[in-house]
Amino acid sequence: MEPSDQEERSVAEDFRRQLQERLPTGPADRSKEDALRRIDKSVDLLTEINTVSWGRESSNPSMVEQLRKELESIPLMSPRDEPFTHAIMKTLCENVESACRTLGIPLRSGVAYGSSPTLAVDAAHYRVHFTDASVITLSAGFISFCSHISKMFSLSLEHEQHEKTFSVCFKPNRVFAKIGSDPALKYYWTEIIGAYAFGSGPLIVKQRLVPSPASITRVQLLQGMELFSVAHEYAHHIGSHGDGVATAEDSNAKREEYEADSLALTLSRYIGANEQPQNLYAMSGASAVLLLKCHECVRRARQILRTGSETIQSSRTHPNSSDRIAAFDAFDEHLPKSEREMFKQTREDFEDIIDAVWAKLRPWYVEMHNHGLRPAEDSSVDSWLPT
Ligand SMILES: [Zn+2]
Repeated sequence: MEPSDQEERSVAEDFRRQLQERLPTGPADRSKEDALRRIDKSVDLLTEINTVSWGRESSNPSMVEQLRKELESIPLMSPRDEPFTHAIMKTLCENVESACRTLGIPLRSGVAYGSSPTLAVDAAHYRVHFTDASVITLSAGFISFCSHISKMFSLSLEHEQHEKTFSVCFKPNRVFAKIGSDPALKYYWTEIIGAYAFGSGPLIVKQRLVPSPASITRVQLLQGMELFSVAHEYAHHIGSHGDGVATAEDSNAKREEYEADSLALTLSRYIGANEQPQNLYAMSGASAVLLLKCHECVRRARQILRTGSETIQSSRTHPNSSDRIAAFDAFDEHLPKSEREMFKQTREDFEDIIDAVWAKLRPWYVEMHNHGLRPAEDSSVDSWLPT
């Protein structure tokens, strides 16, 4: 008798638990009790975040209470599931699966999803052999990276508050000028890219609050990046692709990456268009550009710390990020002209901003290398690109 989808998913869930158990325990591990204790201890900080980001009354405890209730009720499938990151994965995966169902995209036997308790920046899809199910994970380090990058970038854009709405400017020369004129912002970029290059990003980057209305952009950028990454891994599952291990023939593996990006953008676009307000960063692929480019900065900075030079070796299985971003143009062909042009312009602006900032950051890491700073070798920043 053929196993049911339910049975195959429970095999996948078992495999996911085994994958987690292979990781050494560390600072990314946290039980539900610890998570709740952490909320209780941080009521003042959480309330302050709420006030600064959303301009709400500082005495309003309901947000903290709601967060506590949500965490309390979240079902954790494995002892190594960390509640905060698992809750994020659950929401993202449910959104992607619901979009697939509406769009008539079959999910085969389904997916066991979750977060992996490691500080490495890692997104992965694993085939579960002899089944039509997969395991999909984002690491705690990956979720933290998206959070930091979205703060850094939203703080860099110019926001103008109107009576009830606000406008955002991402013209590269203006954004570049804004970053250049703000020492704290320059430091923030150097700190984030440097900390993740060194290998301890999630632990050492200091807490920074994003005021309204940049906080709205920040959430949209963050959701756009996370959504694209999860949808990319689902696309590997949907397409029955290999699991990113370098055994597949190289050209085949690269073709699968482009296919996964294409479906990830379709799903991000669909979900972003149905949000209120619409998430233009998810719809245009600009969030994905932000993620790919910033991760490339991290890899280059890491290479500089290691060797003094930023030249990174091309991957055998993954196209480089500029080729992946260039391919986005082809995914837009069916769109109306005005939308197609606007999406392309937004992606190009994001790319230009990061290229311009990187040219200014690079000498700092060269100097750090010259002073003897080397990356922590236990981190596997290198291994990542959404696989
Ligand atoms: Zn991939």
